[in-house]
Amino acid sequence: MPNTAMSNAATEETPRELYLDSAASGAVSQAAIDAMLPFMTEAYGNPSSVHADGKTAARALDAARSSFAADLGARPNDVVFTSGGTESDNLAIKGIALAQVRRENAGMASRPRRIIVSAVEHPAVMQSAQWLHDFFGFDVATIPVDAQAHVDLAALRREAERGATLACIMMANNEVGTVEPVADAVRICHAAGVPVHVDAVQAAGTIPVDFRGTDADSLAVSGHKFGAPKGLGALLVRSRVQLEPVISGGGQERGLRSGTENVAGAVALAVALHEACATMETRSAAVAQSRDALVRAVQNAVPFAHETGDPSRRLPGHASFVFPGVTGEALLVDLDARGIEVSSGSACAIGRHEVPGTLLAMGYSETDAKSALRFSFRAPLPLRDIQRIAAALHASIDALHASA
Ligand code: PLP
Repeated sequence: MPNTAMSNAATEETPRELYLDSAASGAVSQAAIDAMLPFMTEAYGNPSSVHADGKTAARALDAARSSFAADLGARPNDVVFTSGGTESDNLAIKGIALAQVRRENAGMASRPRRIIVSAVEHPAVMQSAQWLHDFFGFDVATIPVDAQAHVDLAALRREAERGATLACIMMANNEVGTVEPVADAVRICHAAGVPVHVDAVQAAGTIPVDFRGTDADSLAVSGHKFGAPKGLGALLVRSRVQLEPVISGGGQERGLRSGTENVAGAVALAVALHEACATMETRSAAVAQSRDALVRAVQNAVPFAHETGDPSRRLPGHASFVFPGVTGEALLVDLDARGIEVSSGSACAIGRHEVPGTLLAMGYSETDAKSALRFSFRAPLPLRDIQRIAAALHASIDALHASA
C-alpha cells in the first residue's frame, strides 16, 4: 500500500513498498473509476424509475450486464449482480439448497440433502455448506485433493453417484494458485445428475472463464480481484437452476437479489473485467515469466523454501511457498517492515491465527502449513523487484532464526 508519509520521508534508503497481495485485493482501474463516476454524479437515477434519468440508469445497467456476460462466456440473463464473491457463493449454495427444501415441502421428488465441497474451497463456500448442515441437516461431503491441490476426480465421481443437492468446485485456489479441472468435474457431476457451483473469484480476469462452455450451473465472481472496487461481484446462474433468493425485497435481478442495483458499480465491474480480459493474453505470459523468475530467486535465496501448488497449472501471478521452521505470520510482519507486502495464505484466515486449510488438505503438517507465504501480483515484476524480494526474504529468515 502506498505510504502516505513517503513524499516527505522517502530517501534513497527507504525504497517504495512492494505490494504482492493482489490475490487479496488490488488497485481499482482508472478506466473503471472514469466510467463509474457519471453514474454517481449525473445519471444517478434509480434504474427501476420510469422517468428519463431512471431509463438512462437502466440502459447503463443493461449495457454493463451484456459486456460483463460476454467476457465470461455467459448470456446477459445469466448475470445476478451482488456485493462480491462471498455473497455470490452464499446465494448459489444456500439458494440452490433452499429451493430443494421448498420442493421437498411441496412433496416433490428431490435429491438427497447433501452438499459436496472440495477440501480446498474458500470459507465462503465451506461456511455456507456448514450453515445448511446446522439449520437444515444437510450432510457435507468433502472431496480430498492431492499434494498439489488438484481435486480427486474419482472421489468426486463416487460422492456424486451417491446423489447430492450440489457440488462446489473452485476454478483456481486462492492459497496455492492451482487451477482445478472444473470442466471434468462438471461432466462427472452432471453424469450423476448433480449440479455444480464454481467459485471463479481468483480466476475471473486472470485466466479465461467460459461459463456456458464449462456448462457449470452457477459461478461466483468478485470485482476487487480484477480492478473493480471492493464490494462488487456477480453470480452467473443458468435459468435451468432453481434458486431461492437469500435477500428478499423488491425483486430486482430477476427476483434473485433484491435491492436497488448499484449501477455505477455494475459499470465499473464491466469496464474493469473487459480491460482485464482484453490484456489477459499478453499480460499473463509476462506475469507468468516473472513468477517463474521469482520462484527461482526465492529458492536460491532460501534453499529450504518449498514451492506449494501445481508449478505449471497455476494462476500466472501467484507463487506460494512453505518455509519449514519459520512462522509465516512472523515472516510476513518482518517482510512488511522491509517494505514487502505479502500474505500468509488466505486473507480470511489472517488475524484469527487459523492454519491455512488448503495446505492441510494437501497433506502438509500443521507446523509447515503455518510457515506458508503467498506472493501474488497482476503486473509483471521488474528484475530489480524480484532481487529485492529475494534479498529481503533471506534477511528476514536470518533475523527470525537469530531471534529464535
Ligand atoms: N472465493 C475465493 C476463492 C476468494 O479468494 C475470495 C476472496 O479472497 C472469496 C471467495 C470472497 O470474495 P469477496 O472478497 O469478494 O467476498
